Amino acid sequence: MKITTGYNFKNWARNIQNKSQYYCQPETEEEIIELIRKYAKIRVVGTGHSWSALCESEELLINLDKFNKVISFDKAQETIRVQAGIKLYQLNELLDKEGFALINLGSIAKQSLAGAIATGTHGSGIAFQCLASQVLEFNLINANGEKITYNKEEEAFNAAIIGLGCLGVITEMTLKVTKAFRLHDQTYTYTFDEVIEHLDTYLQYDHFKLWWFPPTKEVVVYTYTRTQQESNDSKIRKILKDDILSVWAYRILVKVGNLVNKWRNPINRFLTGQMKGPLDRIEKSFLVFNVPEPPKHRETEWAFDIKNAKEILKGYQQLFTESDFTFNFIQEIRFTKGDEFWLSECYGRDSIWIGAYNHEDEQWDNILKTFETFAMQHHGRPHWGKEFNVSKEYLEANYPKYKDFIMHKEQADPNEKFSNNIIKKLFC
Ligand SMILES: Cc1cc2nc3c(=O)[nH]c(=O)nc-3n(C[C@H](O)[C@H](O)[C@H](O)COP(=O)(O)OP(=O)(O)OC[C@H]3O[C@@H](n4cnc5c(N)ncnc54)[C@H](O)[C@@H]3O)c2cc1C
Repeated sequence: MKITTGYNFKNWARNIQNKSQYYCQPETEEEIIELIRKYAKIRVVGTGHSWSALCESEELLINLDKFNKVISFDKAQETIRVQAGIKLYQLNELLDKEGFALINLGSIAKQSLAGAIATGTHGSGIAFQCLASQVLEFNLINANGEKITYNKEEEAFNAAIIGLGCLGVITEMTLKVTKAFRLHDQTYTYTFDEVIEHLDTYLQYDHFKLWWFPPTKEVVVYTYTRTQQESNDSKIRKILKDDILSVWAYRILVKVGNLVNKWRNPINRFLTGQMKGPLDRIEKSFLVFNVPEPPKHRETEWAFDIKNAKEILKGYQQLFTESDFTFNFIQEIRFTKGDEFWLSECYGRDSIWIGAYNHEDEQWDNILKTFETFAMQHHGRPHWGKEFNVSKEYLEANYPKYKDFIMHKEQADPNEKFSNNIIKKLFC
């Protein structure tokens, strides 16, 4: 097993950079156990797609890119057991070949399975929980190098499934999958006010999300209905819209917006106009859930109780339209079903996700602070993989199982082998 000395970690957004003393990509569970027994301070990195400093390591950084095989696939039971380093896109491709699919997905599939699950990564659809809900069982190697199996039937599963890498290294997972399906994607623009007014109707779609380019009065409305009908998306549309316009033209416009601040609002109105559509297509589920990878940007996203969705949306719309901020990035609004996972942002409540997104510039710290103040006033819970600054007191007040999680963590890792600065700040 090759151990690299002096490894420079950079996350996807490049807002986090850290030098770990050692770096290793183990290929077997025995190697993972050996590393855990040998080193005092360990963190695991998936794909490094988190904005928060979760993957900073004081000593050893482990990556499971070479621990990514399929262990077994039970088509009759619709379950698959995989090694934890597998990427979501690898899972999408191999399941698709067999006529199966993941039940729900977020916007991209570059993340590792364990990394996405560990932070509560989610898609959109009020009847669908975060990605962790697709896990039936997982193995974790704890600080003593012992293998613990967590099964969905037990409460300990809820304690550990969203664990931010601070309980140990997840090595294997069994997932519930589903027969391949397609999505009927109907996308168009509509006034933000009207969408807020008729939110309950939109929430009846299987999957529904909004994109907003402030200060535009309209939002882009995405509605997806699950279907078995054949795909009918045109190849020309895909090349023109998904490959050229959504990737290259958008990147150029973001760059222009970075250079000339006062062009941002007209660009945002133009972009909204381009999405007027309507788009009406049927395509494989993962090809619709996943969008082209966006340009580098900064991001915070918080989950709020859906019961207050209308009031929060109105406040949020006002916050960004009446401020002096200029945005040159999409603001996304999504919805997920509540769950029982102790550290889940959606614990015990169906949720609306709202965030602040912008290309990094001199406004960002202020945007983040302003949004966070708003979010805390509404008892939001920050996405663990995105940017946030909250106190332990705030977490305790807003996560009913916060103290239980700390107790669970103290038992699982009494010597804080799997803690780094951010974990200490949040949970120690
Ligand atoms: C362009 C982009 C789009 C995104 N879209 C979405 C979205 O649609 N929805 C959403 O909710 N989020 C989204 N995110 C956030 C992203 O899904 C999360 O930050 C996710 O955790 C990143 O996965 P990763 O594999 O890169 O994990 P990393 O960022 O590398 O790690 C995340 C956490 O997982 C832990 N971890 C990784 N592997 C293991 C393991 N084997 N055992 C134990 N712990 C482990 C790490 O220690 C760390 O605490 C997006 C991020 C980007 C950059």
